[in-house]
Amino acid sequence: MSISHPVTSPNSKLSQAAAQAELYLNQHFENALEELKQLAKIPSVSFAGFDPAHVRKSAEATAVLLKKVGFENVEVLNFEDAHPYVYADYLKAGPDAPTALLYAHHDVQPAGRDELWLTPAFTPTLKEGPGGARLYGRGTADDKAGILVHAAALEAFLKTSGSCPLNLKVVIEGEEEIGSGHLHSFLKAYAKKLQADVIILTDTANFDCGKPALTIALRGLIGVDVEVRALTKAVHSGMWGGPVPDPVVALAKVLASLVDEDGRIAVPGIREMVTPLTEEEIERMKKIPFEEKLFREQVGMVQGAKLLTEGPNPIAQLWRFPSLTITAIQASERKEAANRINDTAWARVTIRTAPGMDAPKTAALLKAHMEKVVPWGLEISVTGGEHGSGAWAIDPTGPAFEAAKIAMTKGYGEEPLMIGCGGSIPFVQPFAEALGGVPALLIGVEDPYTNAHGENESLLVSDLRKACVSQIHLFAEIAERLRPARALQKEVP
Ligand SMILES: [Zn+2]
Repeated sequence: MSISHPVTSPNSKLSQAAAQAELYLNQHFENALEELKQLAKIPSVSFAGFDPAHVRKSAEATAVLLKKVGFENVEVLNFEDAHPYVYADYLKAGPDAPTALLYAHHDVQPAGRDELWLTPAFTPTLKEGPGGARLYGRGTADDKAGILVHAAALEAFLKTSGSCPLNLKVVIEGEEEIGSGHLHSFLKAYAKKLQADVIILTDTANFDCGKPALTIALRGLIGVDVEVRALTKAVHSGMWGGPVPDPVVALAKVLASLVDEDGRIAVPGIREMVTPLTEEEIERMKKIPFEEKLFREQVGMVQGAKLLTEGPNPIAQLWRFPSLTITAIQASERKEAANRINDTAWARVTIRTAPGMDAPKTAALLKAHMEKVVPWGLEISVTGGEHGSGAWAIDPTGPAFEAAKIAMTKGYGEEPLMIGCGGSIPFVQPFAEALGGVPALLIGVEDPYTNAHGENESLLVSDLRKACVSQIHLFAEIAERLRPARALQKEVP
């Protein structure tokens, strides 16, 4: 792949420092990997019902690591009743250098089903896998690797030139996996302390093993709970079945009405909100290779299942169109499948929202539709949906994106793809808002085989190294290209 801009930085002192730092990183990469293993041993599950002491321990271990590599003003921050955040900075690049705000999170998802893990979830284990050697374990990729990338890059500069060309502020969150509930108010409270010229958020995925990507669009997410009630109590299906309507069948009819024959959302008014694709977007998407066979393999689709289609191609569909998923249904349980008519049936319905869609309006339309179509006069209650997140997209032009393209090309040996992500990352919007719209670079080390949130999560070790090298060059390229427009000057009273 060819790129149109020069790969070498015009400032030879900066590129020399970056080259030395890269050499150091490569020589000491095993140490960085070891640090990651230590972090990933801590079961810092932020979900309710899990011991919060582990999340605190993980915050403390993160603080120790940041201090060790040369960050200053390291603090474990207890903000309201949130799991602890970790803050640290390095401001010795001085007022003439720009400032980057670095983000990652130290909390993790629950391990899931023990019997499906091939290695223990909280014993990080090196093993061959897709792309080469991988580190298996909960949090190895999502997102303790993100912490490592930030730490290793600063350490490499300090151990070689004795200084870093960029001022750094780092926020490591402790509640990302439960929706970043306090992030908005946290960023508001610390807005001044966190001012920066660019944000580097390390918690996303590459396009494939060894194929780097910058994420420039995210879908949002709304969810509602729906309950259909037919009876005040469950009754015998032989004695009563026939005249008495079954709430499970009624719920099934309601749910089936949510999509059309092709699996597209059929709730009136929802798809109409989506912002049409621009020519530039379509051009960018054409650069993304899509192979149906590989896609099917990666996701693990059963043979014979057909891909649902909407929009010009599957890439656009994943990143720029909404999708509907029913994440849970309950009436009685499998082990209690008795011959009875259940009193109620329940489901959670979620929609990934696309650019242009108003999240609360989407939830309201969904609610109104279900209330309208429920059959046989049964009671229906639809709740939730008020706290949905909107979709996010950024125009990937300007010096910060130039810096990222050059840095990632140096780290990975190929230019990053500009990708969207079908998922939702609640922390992106608050950051963009709190920092007054400074460019946000979403860079990550996951890949399609990482299985974050599932069992056997893993990190491709060679990509962690490449991500660290990219980060070193990113610090240098940002120092070279961005002028400190806000950052430090703003802090002077
Ligand atoms: Zn994450």
